[in-house]
Amino acid sequence: MKEKLLLLIKLQDCDSQLVKLSAKKKILPGNIEKLDKEFCSFKEGIEKNKAKYDELKARHTENESKIKKVNEGIVKTKERMLEVKNNKEYQAMLKEIETAESSRGEIETQIISLLEELDKLSVLVKKDDEILKQGRDKYEQEKKAIEDDLNAVDADVADWEKKRLDLQKNVPEDLLVTYEKVKKRNKGVGVTSVWKAVCNGCHMNIPAQLYNELQRSDDLLSCPNCNRIMYYQDMEKPV
Ligand SMILES: [Zn+2]
Repeated sequence: MKEKLLLLIKLQDCDSQLVKLSAKKKILPGNIEKLDKEFCSFKEGIEKNKAKYDELKARHTENESKIKKVNEGIVKTKERMLEVKNNKEYQAMLKEIETAESSRGEIETQIISLLEELDKLSVLVKKDDEILKQGRDKYEQEKKAIEDDLNAVDADVADWEKKRLDLQKNVPEDLLVTYEKVKKRNKGVGVTSVWKAVCNGCHMNIPAQLYNELQRSDDLLSCPNCNRIMYYQDMEKPV
C-alpha cells in the first residue's frame, strides 16, 4: 500500500481510539452513579425488616419502663396503706392498686406479642444481612471494575496521543491539512476503506472506473459522495 495512505490510516486509527476514549470518560462516571443508586434502593428495600425490628425493640423497652413505673407506684401505694386512718381511704387505695395491676397486665400482654414478633423478625433480619452482604460484595466489585476502567482512560489517552504525534511528524503538511478538514466534516472519520465498490464511510457505491483506479493508482482518491480519502481493502484479507 502507498506509504502516505498507510500513515493516514494509522493516524485515523489513533483518532478513532481517542474519540472512543473520550466517550468512555464521559459515560463511565454516569455508570458509577447508576450503580450507586441501584445499590442504595436495594439496601433500603432490604433494611425494611431491620427498621421494623428496631421500632418494635424500642416499643418493648418503653413497655418495660412503663411496667417498672407501675410497680413502683404499687409499692408506694402499699406503703401509704400502712399509715391509712380510715376505711374509705383504704378502699380508694385498694382500687388504685387494682387499676395499676390491670394496666400492668395489659402491658405484659403487649410485651408477649412484641417478643413473638421480634423473634420472627430477627430470623428475617439475619437472612437479610446475608443477602445484603452478597449484594454489597457484588456492587463493590462492579464499582471497582468501572473505576479501574475509568482510571486507565487517561493513561490510554496519553499513549494514543503520543502515537499520533509520532505518526503526524511523518505526514506531509498539506496532506495533514486535507485529512483534518475532511475528518472535521465527516464525524471524525477522514480516511475510509472501500470494498466491493462500496465506501465504508458513507455506504454509497463508488463508480466502477474510480473503483478500478483506486485499486491500481498511487494517487490519493476521495469518495465522490462523502469526500473521505479512500483506500482499497480486501475485507476477506484485512490489513
Ligand atoms: Zn463515502
